[in-house]
Formats: sequence, C-alpha cells, structure tokens
Amino acid sequence: MLAAILNEPFKLELKEYSLPKPDKNEIVIKVNICGLCGTDFHIYKGDSYSKPPLIPGHEFVGTIVEKGNEVVELNIGDNVAIDPNIYCGECQYCRNGKINFCENLKALGVSLNGGFAEYSIVPSSQAYLLPKEFPFEAAAFAEPLSCCVRGIDQAEIKPGETVAIVGGGTIGLLMLQLAKISGASKILLIEPVTEKREIAKQLGADFVFDPNSNEMLNQISDLTSGGPDVVIECVGNSSAVNIAANLPKRGGRLVIFGLSPKKDSININLQDFFLKELSIKGSLLNPFTFPRAIELLVSGKINPIKLKPIISNLENLEKILSQPRNSSVTKYQIKPK
Ligand SMILES: [Zn+2]
Ligand SMILES: [Zn+2]
Repeated sequence: MLAAILNEPFKLELKEYSLPKPDKNEIVIKVNICGLCGTDFHIYKGDSYSKPPLIPGHEFVGTIVEKGNEVVELNIGDNVAIDPNIYCGECQYCRNGKINFCENLKALGVSLNGGFAEYSIVPSSQAYLLPKEFPFEAAAFAEPLSCCVRGIDQAEIKPGETVAIVGGGTIGLLMLQLAKISGASKILLIEPVTEKREIAKQLGADFVFDPNSNEMLNQISDLTSGGPDVVIECVGNSSAVNIAANLPKRGGRLVIFGLSPKKDSININLQDFFLKELSIKGSLLNPFTFPRAIELLVSGKINPIKLKPIISNLENLEKILSQPRNSSVTKYQIKPK
C-alpha cells in the first residue's frame, strides 16, 4: 500500500509500505479521507513531540477490511471514524477520569502511524461506527469537532449569553455552530480573512469583524453591553489571545483553545482581571467527547461541509505542507485513492 512517510522534518516520502497483520484487538481500515490540520504542519516541521519516521494524519475515516480475532463490536465492511488519542487507563489521571492528561498518551498520526496512507491499523477501541450512508467528507470532521465539544464544555455557555469567537478557521467555524446550538443569543466572530468571515455569516454569525478595524472594540462593546459573556480563542498565537483576553464583560469567561507557539505568552492587567472576576480556561484534546461529535454530525446539527473543505490526494500532501498556508482555505482533506 501507498503511504506518506515523514522520514525526518521537512522530508515526506510517498512510498510502498507493507502493513503488518492486525493484532487480536486491532482492525485494518481502508482510509477514505484524512483531514489535514495545524498539528500536521507542526509535525512536518519537527515542531512537535512526534518522532519520525512516522505516517502522520490523525483525522481519518474509512472502512474496516480486516480485524483481529478478539474484536467483537465491529465488523468487516463497517465504516468508522477514528479517535486518534489513546489513553493508558493506568496513570493517576486516567484513574481519575481525566484521560486528556494521561501521562502515557499516544496518538495515531502523532506518535504512532496514522491516516495519510491507503490503509491504517488501529486498536478497535479507537474506532466509532458510522451509519452506512453517512458521507466520509463530513465524518472526517469528527476528531476536530470532538475537541471543539470539549472547548464548548469548558465555556459553559448558558442560553441567552453573548459569545465572541476569535478566529474563523476550521475550529472557529465549528465553535460558532456549537455556540449557536448551545443557546448563545448573539455570536460575534473575529477573523481577518474576508472569505472566512463570509462563511461565518452563512453559518449563523450575527456579526463579523476584521481585527484590523479600529472600530472593532467599540462596536463589540456596544453590541454586547460592555463585552461578551464568553470569549473563545481559536487561533493559537499571542496576538489573538491578547484580543480575546480583553473582550469579556465583567464576570465573563475566556476559553483559550488554540495551541500557541511554545514561547508565546500574554500580559493581563491584574486590576482588570480582579475587577472583572475573569475566568480563564484551557481546553485539551477530546476526553469522552467523540461519541457526541459523531451524534452532532450524523444528526446534521453541525454541518462541516459548509466549511467548504478542499479535497486533495497523497501526491499533493507534501506540496500543501511545505508551502505557506493558504489563509483562505479552511480545510484540506486528503483522499488516498
Ligand atoms: Zn487535528
Ligand atoms: Zn493514562
């Protein structure tokens, strides 16, 4: 089978790779689609904990073509979405139900071989059954959506609250839809790229803003009587977090969702923090949220196809990873065949 193998940072090779036989608890997936995300760019550049050689790709879906003899819940021919995060179940955090802090976390496509290949072997515990006719293009959003569901849980949006989302990429646009169904009365989205602001409006953003506009802060304050109740940062750099940190109204909450570069930090005015009684939360991975993400996709409550993903193939993967990111594309999806 053909696989994209990262031999060392900046060196992705497309080559024949012979898949081992599945272990008793493993399944072999014929990969239909694997989404490309920011993490893959970090892995490609060697800016992550993953150690090449590695087949990257952690947002994949496909059909089971082979299974180990102890796999009972899933069958050959089933379509599945894969949760890449494998928790040990034994460390102090796993034993306390805080699996996203697992001290021995492994992740398909990050520390173990993943989905940028024609086939992939995964533990059956990582596979979630999809309805037969459900489109793979939408199902491939299960992993990023499951992380967003965690972010929304952290935000604790109450019906009627106002919500601002900083960033209109894949994550920001999924968060926008989640905030809407969580009962937000007004959703404001901040994004510099015009095309993404347009998609945000189509997806139900009540107001969109270009962060480079001088009027933005006053307008947001006017629209929300002094600031949104909840702000969710979905970019992953200090300038976005700085914008986000100053937006919440008194008593408001900030969720910092984006993964910023290692050296980034922000300044918070401590009197503002005190007077606002500001709550700041992070959001890490997708603890127990994968089934909910699939329910949201299958029910059509979240429609990721409106994000207009662009489908490409394994041959183009290195080109996409090595060039400067095209800021108007919300999502690339790789189809091995
Ligand atoms: Zn991802
Ligand atoms: Zn653990």
